[in-house]
Amino acid sequence: MVPPRATATQSTERLSSYNPATGDVIGTVAIMSATDVDAAVARARTAAQTWATRSFAARNEELVAFRKAIAASADEVADILHRENGKPELEAYTEVMMALSHLQHASACAEHAMKPRKVSSGMLANFRATISYHPLGVIGVIGPWNYPLFTPMGSIAYALAAGNAVVWKPSELTPLVALEIEKIAKRTFALPDLLQVVTGAGATGAALAKAAVDKIAFTGSAPTGKRVMIAAAERLTPVLLELGGKDPMIVDTDADLAAAAEAAVFGGLTNSGQACISVERVYVADAIHDKFVEEVVKQVRELKVGGDDGHLGAMTSPAQVKIVKDHLDDAIAKGAKVHTGGPDAISGSYIQPTVLTNVDHRMKIMVDETFGPVIPIQKVANVDEAVRLANDTTFGLGSSVFSKSRGRQIADKLRAGMTAVNAVMAFSGIPTLPFGGVGDSGFGRIHGDEGVREFTRIKSTAEQAFSIPINMMSFRQPKNAVKNIKGMIKQIYGDGVVAKAGDFLRKLR
Ligand code: NAD
Repeated sequence: MVPPRATATQSTERLSSYNPATGDVIGTVAIMSATDVDAAVARARTAAQTWATRSFAARNEELVAFRKAIAASADEVADILHRENGKPELEAYTEVMMALSHLQHASACAEHAMKPRKVSSGMLANFRATISYHPLGVIGVIGPWNYPLFTPMGSIAYALAAGNAVVWKPSELTPLVALEIEKIAKRTFALPDLLQVVTGAGATGAALAKAAVDKIAFTGSAPTGKRVMIAAAERLTPVLLELGGKDPMIVDTDADLAAAAEAAVFGGLTNSGQACISVERVYVADAIHDKFVEEVVKQVRELKVGGDDGHLGAMTSPAQVKIVKDHLDDAIAKGAKVHTGGPDAISGSYIQPTVLTNVDHRMKIMVDETFGPVIPIQKVANVDEAVRLANDTTFGLGSSVFSKSRGRQIADKLRAGMTAVNAVMAFSGIPTLPFGGVGDSGFGRIHGDEGVREFTRIKSTAEQAFSIPINMMSFRQPKNAVKNIKGMIKQIYGDGVVAKAGDFLRKLR
């Protein structure tokens, strides 16, 4: 039986969070109104004003204390993740660890990422030109349910480290883990309103998108992302959109087949395939296709679904189970071959890992985000065809390539925000690498220096160091000013000696 699930509306006062494995209610939370959201944003504004004046060292000290407090509560946090999201214990702890790695990196790298930069002042040689980075103020973070801690932390950690306060709206399917983190934040930060959580369903998220925040960092589906962008447009609030994906994996003829198969199995099935950077489709060269499929099927058959020591847990939402079944039915009706699992092996909130072959781009399973434990493998003539099909999508989030001799070359041809070579998903675990997509996968970047700067405003300063006889920013010009400027245009930008010397020096650089 698929357990009953929270389909929260604003008509009820509280929202229940369920354990998807059992259907039990594990907690209830308030459904916050627009008034509640606005009040949280106003409190955050006050906290942000003080937080922004702190030195990087002082902010780092508090962020380190926050990180250590979460690490000390890892058992409680992982237990909530396990019960509320349905993921196995090991995956819950892995999520806690990955979230902490970003918190650690963000606080450590913020000062370097926001260091003012001196740049060339061009023809205004008497000026000092500087680019500096400043906190935006209050960041609204709207999160999904699949990685309810790791994903929002990618925005929260970098936003806080850059000197902002945060108001976080977690998914209605996984609000309890956010409240646990808020509890830890309140007892760690000197400013109790620095990180606040507002709970509720879509209407609460919409209220946050319309509130007086300085940026919205949204992670979720592309249709909701578009709604968030429209709502934010009312105040011209900038948005960062981390949306869905249809990540391809390419297996070249010279790939280490066992390693590629192991990676496809993990990348397609971890978190029961409910990851934005899941391996959603695999393209394998004809010459090695059958061997690869055999290895994948062998490894998938070793996996256990459900139970405390299962490799795959319960699907978080029954709505998602229906989408996966629909994609499987559609693929089978159009000729796909089922090697393991399949629609008949779905039971309640559990889906047996499913390997499909004979798939193609007429099928939803190869073009729409499936978000379930399915590995569809398409045979291709060669790598060129694989690259063409990999790029035949409106999404562009992650991707992976297995090849001994030309992994990097193939990677560079993929239209995606991120590519792992001879690995899957590795870019998300490297905190220095910016994370984000193109096309329907969104825009903007979390993680790394770019992730810090995403939550800053850029300020350009032109500082006059000394005065020179020709002052272009004055109406007091000599009579022959037009003649002078004509000469300068020729000299500096045309065929003059100065232009030639400049072009020569630029070539040498
Ligand atoms: P979703 O779009 O249904 O919901 C995301 C969040 O938006 C939830 O908190 C929800 O309450 C809120 N929301 C709903 N309607 C809203 C509205 N009108 N205005 C503002 N907020 C609103 O997504 P989901 O089902 O929770 O998450 C799954 C999706 O997230 C998948 O597509 C997945 O690929 C994507 N995802 C992307 C990344 C990434 O980094 N790119 C990471 C994780 C998940």
